[in-house]
Amino acid sequence: MNNSPQFEKYIRPGKESETLLINQLSLLRENNRQTVYKFGFGQSPFPVPQAISNSLASAAHRKEYMSVQGHLPLRQSIAKFHNQMENKQWHADQIIVGAGSKILLYCVMAAFEKADVLLPAPSWVSYEPQGKLAGHNVDWLTTSFENHWQLTAKQLSDYCKQREDRDIPLILVFNYPSNPSGQTYNSEQLQALAQVMRENNIIVIADEIYSLLTYEDGYSTLEDFYPEGCIVSSGLSKWCGAGGWRLGFHHIPKQLGEAFFQAVISVASETYSCAPSPIQIAATTAYQNHTLAKLFLENQINLLKQISQYCGDRLRKAGVKVHDAQGGFYLFPDFGSFAKKLAVCNIKTSEQLTARIMEDIGVALLPGTAFGMKANSLTVRLAFVDFDGRQIWDEGNRKPHFEKIKQGIEKLCEWLDNLYPLSFKN
Ligand code: PLP
Repeated sequence: MNNSPQFEKYIRPGKESETLLINQLSLLRENNRQTVYKFGFGQSPFPVPQAISNSLASAAHRKEYMSVQGHLPLRQSIAKFHNQMENKQWHADQIIVGAGSKILLYCVMAAFEKADVLLPAPSWVSYEPQGKLAGHNVDWLTTSFENHWQLTAKQLSDYCKQREDRDIPLILVFNYPSNPSGQTYNSEQLQALAQVMRENNIIVIADEIYSLLTYEDGYSTLEDFYPEGCIVSSGLSKWCGAGGWRLGFHHIPKQLGEAFFQAVISVASETYSCAPSPIQIAATTAYQNHTLAKLFLENQINLLKQISQYCGDRLRKAGVKVHDAQGGFYLFPDFGSFAKKLAVCNIKTSEQLTARIMEDIGVALLPGTAFGMKANSLTVRLAFVDFDGRQIWDEGNRKPHFEKIKQGIEKLCEWLDNLYPLSFKN
């Protein structure tokens, strides 16, 4: 007897996000008392500042639904915060708050009955499934190590020229500093891209969730060059260490029109209704306290930059192609220079590579394919956040201790050095 329900063939094909899966694999190994170097899952290791947590505790009684668009004082604080910290020119009316920026990305895509979604590869894991869930066609443009995993204006222009029906809206999801590559764009690159975007009326979702964690001052933003078509996505998850609080927002430019804004609000209203009220109150505190935010960010950036540099230097010394991160938590090493040696060990894809590394030495990484890279690309994402943000500094607050990361990187380099013996051990 066939136990599958009749409707099975109608179920949408899908799989659990690979970032969550790798986390489960890591936990499994840990439960078996095996050491795991958790470079797979990329959540902030820093605690939410106490004043903001206190604000959440005292807002626990706020049980009412708030407006779909979001609590007005919160939207005002978000606008003021980003105007001051990042030179934006935002107004609260153009901001919509959601239960994380992820659901808002979906709301923007689902606001279109028909659209094409374009993603540079590598890009964050959820954009493609979201585009498909919204019923859209999703295309990828592959970038290279040599181009710092960045989309070029020429690539974008060539893609637009060959589109068959240019009447269909084109949504480009454009993320910097990037998860997974850690790279960000400079003003010349953004200016050139903006020109192509304008010529082709591209609707861009600029995913700036890591923008406050950019390591160097004066970073560039696409909005400076393409304000009329650029929706900015951000939230509390990364800079404030509050991923599980689920608080994000989008700034949608007026030029995209009232009908579009209302369509996004409508999807929000039919899905999550509003971001949790106590969280919105605590987020208002977070966005109002600029001095606290600056101190918190300074500490994080200082640390992340040192760790990124350490990992990058060590991996390059071992022969791996990798750029230092320019912001955020990630490196995107390319093991292509080991292709021949890896092939001898039956490792020809990034999935085989990450599975084998996990099995042999307990280092958790995500395969490049999870980010839209071709199967034969020997790329991986390395999240260098396997540390406790509360305990990383020495007593004088001068020297960070990230021994676990150092050990994991060392294991990885030794594994590469010993590729033959390890693979023939059975
Ligand atoms: N965009 C990128 C690039 C991310 O890395 C993440 C979280 O990992 C998100 C969006 C989603 O963030 P949120 O917690 O605001 O939904």
